[in-house]
Amino acid sequence: MKYLILGAGPSGLVFANMLKDLGETSYLVLESEETAGGLCRSVMCDGSPLDIGGGHFLDVRRPAVCEYLFRYMPESEWDKYDRDSRIDIGGQEVGHPLEANIWQLDTETQIEYLISIARAGSALGEPKPELFTEWIRWKLGDRITDDYMLPYNSKMFGDNLDRLGTYWLDKLPDVSLEDTLRSCLMHKAYARQPGHAQFYYPHSYGYGEVWLRLADALGDHIEYGRKVCAVDVEKHIVRTADGSIYQADQVITTIPWRSVDELTGLPDELSAAVDSLVSTSIVIDYKPETLDTAAQWIYCPDPDIDYHRILVRSNFVPGGRGYWTETRSERYRGDSGYYNEYAYPLNTVEKPAIIESLLTYAAEHGVYGLGRWGEHMHYNSDVVVERAMDLARRIAGAGGKI
Ligand SMILES: Cc1cc2nc3c(=O)[nH]c(=O)nc-3n(C[C@H](O)[C@H](O)[C@H](O)COP(=O)(O)OP(=O)(O)OC[C@H]3O[C@@H](n4cnc5c(N)ncnc54)[C@H](O)[C@@H]3O)c2cc1C
Repeated sequence: MKYLILGAGPSGLVFANMLKDLGETSYLVLESEETAGGLCRSVMCDGSPLDIGGGHFLDVRRPAVCEYLFRYMPESEWDKYDRDSRIDIGGQEVGHPLEANIWQLDTETQIEYLISIARAGSALGEPKPELFTEWIRWKLGDRITDDYMLPYNSKMFGDNLDRLGTYWLDKLPDVSLEDTLRSCLMHKAYARQPGHAQFYYPHSYGYGEVWLRLADALGDHIEYGRKVCAVDVEKHIVRTADGSIYQADQVITTIPWRSVDELTGLPDELSAAVDSLVSTSIVIDYKPETLDTAAQWIYCPDPDIDYHRILVRSNFVPGGRGYWTETRSERYRGDSGYYNEYAYPLNTVEKPAIIESLLTYAAEHGVYGLGRWGEHMHYNSDVVVERAMDLARRIAGAGGKI
């Protein structure tokens, strides 16, 4: 066929549907699971939807992406929310980001936090560090680092925390010292949320529904239960675990590079580089108790609790009760959760250079890395949809057809 797409998560599904819109018929999607949606899948649990890849919300920030998804699931089927996320600091819920909501703490603690921020390297004009762990202390001071950022991020990223760089920190809120002081004086948060300030969640379904509809639109252009285990980058030959072999003019891979047992046709240094890509796994677990909070989600830095985030289902699934938790798999103490082997691609210091060389080499040979795993980037689903639309236009939309 002309196009072979590896993975039926949001990236692969949007890319394939873009081909369909172009009038293309020579394409196939290979998916290892028995259903589509990847990390964005949902199941029914205790009478309501539960997102088995974690808490998933559609950010309103990319109108073209929302419009695209509304073609498959009209806007009337979604509810729109203003973000209410909180941090559990010693049993007290404080608004996110913490540095804009210190005013919610008692006066003595506020003073300690403010002194600590005022003594941080960024307030004193010291140069910005290159490592994440040093950056948080430089930016937020000792108290926020030790009470929240360090324990929370250690829970998510484990031993890899010291390997993270700072190039991805546009995902974090950027609150100035002036904003922090103003919020304490005015008793109001002064901060811009970098993502999900407003978001959509389906009214009657989980987040997985829209991806099932994209998959349905592809008909028999998807094959399920086909775990890709070998990819030859030079010859565009792909083998699946059941022994089936496929060859295409172009391969679009949205699966983790490291999930491919036999990756051939790459120079030795690139094969070694692929082995150094790091990720973490998570487990999603459901709890039926309904929590007394208005937050949609709560960050939990307490090292004595295994999970790092709570998703308060009763506050975004109409009629739903209970909540679910996200726990890095090594910390998980339960036995009935949903396991996601590939959850967070990690932003190690060396990753941008590795990915740049890998994707450039592969694209020169007609193999394109796309999405959270194809590009090994901490992308949200709205971003991968946008990137899939762009890539389809670039490599298949020549002649101005789309
Ligand atoms: C805890 C958590 C919370 C998140 N919250 C949000 C949020 O609120 N909003 C948001 O927009 N995004 C969120 N995201 C990000 C979102 O999950 C991703 O952006 C999105 O799933 C990326 O889509 P993808 O298709 O690139 O990858 P994936 O969804 O991972 O899809 C990859 C597909 O490839 C398949 N596959 C893997 N290996 C193989 C193989 N060897 N052979 C064949 N198939 C294979 C998988 O089964 C899967 O279907 C969150 C992610 C996590 C982990």
